[in-house]
Amino acid sequence: MKVGFIGVGNMGGPMCRNIIRNTNHDVVVFDLNPAAIEACTDLGASAGTSVQQVAAECDVVFTSLPMPRNVEEVAAGIAASAKPGTVYVDLSTNSPATARRVNEQMRAKGVQMLEAPVSGGVPRATDGTIVIMVGGDTAVFDAQLPLLKSFSGEVVHVGEIGMGSVAKLVNNMLAFCNAAAAAEALVIGTMAGIDLRKLQQVISNASGNSSAFRNISEKAFNREFAATFALDLAHKDLRLALELADELGVPGMIAPQVMNLMRIARAKGMGGDDSSSVIRVYEQALGKEVRP
Ligand code: NAD
Repeated sequence: MKVGFIGVGNMGGPMCRNIIRNTNHDVVVFDLNPAAIEACTDLGASAGTSVQQVAAECDVVFTSLPMPRNVEEVAAGIAASAKPGTVYVDLSTNSPATARRVNEQMRAKGVQMLEAPVSGGVPRATDGTIVIMVGGDTAVFDAQLPLLKSFSGEVVHVGEIGMGSVAKLVNNMLAFCNAAAAAEALVIGTMAGIDLRKLQQVISNASGNSSAFRNISEKAFNREFAATFALDLAHKDLRLALELADELGVPGMIAPQVMNLMRIARAKGMGGDDSSSVIRVYEQALGKEVRP
């Protein structure tokens, strides 16, 4: 089987490399960034020349792209060139409405689609334990399960097209709220003068623990704010989650506050930095860094 992979950045890159390592499929990659392509061709993939060329020659085409507009643009190119019977799998984080719209476009061309957003960040995309939440037809899901399992630790079929995005947006809203609360907690601890390593040891083993706490405390302590998950992408995810809440008439008490924190961080020029940079908004306001 020939597998196409379009968008091999922070997340797509390691997921694609795990497909190359763990299966016997021929893999063709395409990205706007030549260095990202090279990191996959070094492992045995071939380099595609365009979205259309990859779509025309592959049986399954993955995308892992930053913004909904990038997905819509690339998906239009795939729909225009893919053979009927091709399977399109979008691993990006998107809105349910966009996933449904793209699915209709694919269906009109005889292309089957799964929306398959992922969670676990770069470390778990790299070690192959990422979680994939899939929306789409059961028969298409069943047929693609072995391929999805080749680069993940947990694959959950959550329902029809759109439901994968619902699961992902709800998960990320929760993760960002946890991260903002963790940032605030760490800043209070810092201002109180507690030994931050001791505080981390306590919380990691106590009721305040979360993967967001562990992540943001390590990033702050090590002063590592280069993006593995860009704040601009986190802001996009939370914006989509708030739009979904609005469409459904669900009031927001907590997430809109976190949205404002992200807006401030972006206004300070941190959009291209890691999403954990929200803690630097507090640090800059107080003139003190969260470091042991
Ligand atoms: P990224 O910016 O690191 O990678 C995206 C890649 O897509 C880049 O290499 C870029 O050059 C390429 N690209 C953009 N437009 C293109 C086009 N038209 N044609 C071909 N290539 C194109 O982003 P990322 O962090 O890998 O995120 C990808 C998706 O995964 C996003 O939707 C994000 O929200 C989601 N996600 C990210 C993380 C994370 O921790 N980084 C975790 C879960 C989900």
